[in-house]
Amino acid sequence: MDVKSVWNKLLDEIKPQVGLANFKGWFSTVEPLEMGEGKIILSTPSAFHEGQLKTRYLDLITSTLEKISGQKIAVEFKIDPTKLSKKSKVETPEDAFDFMPQTQAPVLNQRYTLENFVVGLSNNVAFAAAQAVVQNPGVSYNPLFVYGGTGVGKTHLMLGIGNSILKNHPEYKIIYCSSETFMNDYVEAIKTQRMADLRRKYRSTNILLIDDVQFFSGREGTQEEFFHTFNELQGRNSQIVLTSDKAPNEIAKLEDRLKSRFVGGLMIDIQLPDFDTRVAILKAKCEERGEVIPEESLRLLAQSLDSNIRELEGKLIQILQTSKAQNLPLTPENIVRYLDQPRKSTQLDPKKVLISICGYFNLNLKDLSGPRRQKELVLPRHIAMYLLTEELNLTVEKVGGLLGGRDHTTVMHGRDRIKTLANTDREVQKTLIELKQRLIS
Ligand code: ADP
Ligand code: MG
Repeated sequence: MDVKSVWNKLLDEIKPQVGLANFKGWFSTVEPLEMGEGKIILSTPSAFHEGQLKTRYLDLITSTLEKISGQKIAVEFKIDPTKLSKKSKVETPEDAFDFMPQTQAPVLNQRYTLENFVVGLSNNVAFAAAQAVVQNPGVSYNPLFVYGGTGVGKTHLMLGIGNSILKNHPEYKIIYCSSETFMNDYVEAIKTQRMADLRRKYRSTNILLIDDVQFFSGREGTQEEFFHTFNELQGRNSQIVLTSDKAPNEIAKLEDRLKSRFVGGLMIDIQLPDFDTRVAILKAKCEERGEVIPEESLRLLAQSLDSNIRELEGKLIQILQTSKAQNLPLTPENIVRYLDQPRKSTQLDPKKVLISICGYFNLNLKDLSGPRRQKELVLPRHIAMYLLTEELNLTVEKVGGLLGGRDHTTVMHGRDRIKTLANTDREVQKTLIELKQRLIS
């Protein structure tokens, strides 16, 4: 038998076993090159493709070859990029049908991207981590563990990562689901004795995105299964991203070994959005809908809605609808009416800022503006320089004066230091968010 007919026989044999989607995805671009002396050489379009064929189907290929030819045949691969298929390997319904009943959306929701994720003080570190993961999936931070309260953008960020990786690697297989879906799949697999299918499904993916892992709490069997899934994926440099409403150590009834896996990569929290981020988000959401709301109205909205982003969005939509229904433009006055709240003053004076800082750090004003240079005083002082210049738009000279006659270059240095720390230091970020919150309330 020549190599072509052996291969065609093999294809006929395995097609019903692997399912149509997998068959098309993994076998249509493979070509048999030659056969002899107990070995067959196959061409594949990429190293990635070769790796996947080996992990998923090498056993099946060799056993089928043996069945057809009556002898053991070794498989060798040769890479031929001209055969590259442009097809994305996102889990399709066909695919899923093959493995398990599917309860999740088969393709990633395109609404959630890194491009439309608004970055601010409350989420910039998480965003930077997401970018690093996209640059080097499976390498830089594995797993990436994102946690934070409800509606702060965890799911959005996670799907954004998925969408961006797929853009760079359309051939990657990706699974996104909630921890509950994983749990249900596990229970179903036990019931129907299809554990092998479950493992094939979750352990063959290049990217695994599991949302809300806090629900693993107390589910011992699921945790055990997930632990092994996790290890296998991590061992193969498949990127894992997890979200949760709390840090791993705070999740009750979660096995220690899972906790230690979860904290073993990069763990990042997303905070409630601060005022500036809320303004930016409102603006972005308006633009997405083709609506224009005056800046002052947006600021008013952001000021009175110090909630999570989901609620902020909900309120915005509600207000847009009301304004349409009543045919009233969204002037600041009308916004106030819709908010049904007295208008808060936006006036910030430098004294109030300094007093807030002192209150926050438990210092007195004299120390803050005095000459002493202890560490406990320097950070609050720099934060004062930052807030007074950036938030109140005071000149560096003026700020120098307010802080006990300091030179304007000192003020510039302090301001710039906090600017940098605002992007890198969690403590400073939290402090700034907290302080800004206090200042507008
Ligand atoms: P979580 O998963 O943390 O509960 P989501 O990711 O579901 O929150 O976000 C809630 C809503 O807020 C979504 O509509 C999402 O698009 C939006 N959202 C959250 N964070 C951002 C952001 N940084 N930029 C733009 N939209 C955001
Ligand atoms: Mg979510």
